[in-house]
Amino acid sequence: MRHRIIVLGAGYTGAFAAGRLARRLRREDVAITLVNAEPDFVERVRMHQLAVGQDLKSRPFSGMFAGTGVELRLAKVTGVDVDRKTVAVAGADGAEELGYDTLVYALGSGWNAQGVPGTAEHAFEIAGRPGALRLRERLARLDAGQTVVVVGGGLTGLEAATEIAETRPDLDVALAARGGLGDWLSSKGREHLRTVVGRLGITVYEHAAVTGVEADRVTIADGGAIPAAVTVWTAGFAVHPIAKATALEVTGTGQIVVDGTMRSVSHPDVYAVGDAAMVMGPGDKPLRMSCASGVPTAWQAADAIAARLTGGKLPNVPIRYFNQCVSLGRKEGLIQYVTADDRAVRAALTGRLAAVYKELVCKGAAWGVANPTFGLPTRRRRVTRERVAAGSAVAASA
Ligand SMILES: Cc1cc2nc3c(=O)[nH]c(=O)nc-3n(C[C@H](O)[C@H](O)[C@H](O)COP(=O)(O)OP(=O)(O)OC[C@H]3O[C@@H](n4cnc5c(N)ncnc54)[C@H](O)[C@@H]3O)c2cc1C
Repeated sequence: MRHRIIVLGAGYTGAFAAGRLARRLRREDVAITLVNAEPDFVERVRMHQLAVGQDLKSRPFSGMFAGTGVELRLAKVTGVDVDRKTVAVAGADGAEELGYDTLVYALGSGWNAQGVPGTAEHAFEIAGRPGALRLRERLARLDAGQTVVVVGGGLTGLEAATEIAETRPDLDVALAARGGLGDWLSSKGREHLRTVVGRLGITVYEHAAVTGVEADRVTIADGGAIPAAVTVWTAGFAVHPIAKATALEVTGTGQIVVDGTMRSVSHPDVYAVGDAAMVMGPGDKPLRMSCASGVPTAWQAADAIAARLTGGKLPNVPIRYFNQCVSLGRKEGLIQYVTADDRAVRAALTGRLAAVYKELVCKGAAWGVANPTFGLPTRRRRVTRERVAAGSAVAASA
C-alpha cells in the first residue's frame, strides 16, 4: 500500500513540487499523481509576449515527467472534499473521484477584474493562455493609430505596455496607473522606467483609478475618460474559487492559509503553494503572487511532506525576495534589487543587460519545470510503514 500524494496544477509550483517529491521519496512507498487541465506547460510569465504575436516553445508534460515516477493526469479539477479526502476531476474519460492521503494544491490564479463594471464584457487579460491568445488576435486586427490602454501600473502592466509598444510602434499605447509610475522602485529604477516608457511613446496616466471599462474607452475616478480601442486589464490576480468552496481555512480572497511548511492550518494533510496559498513572508507580510516566491513555496512543501513521511528534519528555509525582474520589451529591462520583504533598495540593473538577465530567469524557471528531478541530491528516503498505512493521520502528527 503506497501513500497517495496528489498535486493539483502543473504550473511553476505544482510541477516543481511533484518533481521534488519524486526525487525525495521512494516509488515503492508513494504514488505521486499530478493533475493538470492542459497537456503542456504554460509559461505564464511570458503571456504578454504571446499576446503580441511571439511564439512560445511548446513544452508537453508527457516528455517532462516520463520516467520520473510522477503519474500525469490530464483532467480539470472540479472540486475538492477535504473531509473525505477526495478530488473530483473531469477528463477525457468523464467525471471521476481520486482519493489522496496528502494533497498539494497548486491551481494558481487568473485575472482579477476587481469588480470594476465593464471589465468582463470589454477588457482583455493576459493572466493565462486563452486570454493572451484572444488579445493577440485582437491586436493583430488593430489599425495604425488606434489606442491600447493597459490598466494597472504593477509589474504585469509595465511588461504588457512596453511589449505592445515595442512590437507595435504604430499603435497609440497608454498606461493607466492607480499610483505614480513605478513609485515603489528606487530612484534609479524609476528614472530608467520613465526613460524607456518615454522612448517607446507610451502615454502614462498616473493616479488614475479606473472605474469602468466601455467598448471604446475607460473611465477614471476624477470623472475623465481615456479612449481605448482595446483595454488590457492587468490589475492583479485572483485565485480560482475551488478552495473557497471547501472546508479549508481560506482568506477573504480564497487563498489557502498555510503555515511555514505550506501546510494548511485547518487540514494538515493538505498543502498549498504558489498563488493559491496565503504565505506570510519576512516582516510578517504576505508573499505576493509571483514565481519568485511561489517556486520556493513548492520546494518547502515538498521537503516538508517528505520529512514528515520519513521522519526526517523539517525544512526551515525562510522564503525571501532578492530582486524584481521586469522586462520592458525585448531590448530593455529592469532588475530592481529588494530587501527580503520586497522593498526596493538603491541598486538596480538596467538596459540591455537587464533584459538578458530577465530572459535567463524566465528560461531558468521553464528549464527547472522541464527537468523536474534534475540537480537535487537524491535523498530517496524510506517512508515508515506506519506512516504509509496510517496515511495522513501519522503525517499530521509528525
Ligand atoms: C504576464 C505575466 C507576467 C508575469 N511575470 C512574472 C515575473 O516576471 N516574475 C514572477 O515572479 N511572476 C510573474 N508572474 C506571475 C506568475 O506567473 C505566477 O505567480 C505563477 O505562474 C504562479 O504559479 P502557480 O504554480 O501558483 O500557478 P500557475 O502557473 O498559474 O499554474 C497553475 C496550473 O494549474 C492549472 N489549473 C488551474 N485550474 C485548474 C483546474 N481547475 N483543473 C486542472 N488544472 C488547473 C493551470 O492550467 C496551470 O497549469 C507573471 C504573470 C503574468 C500573467
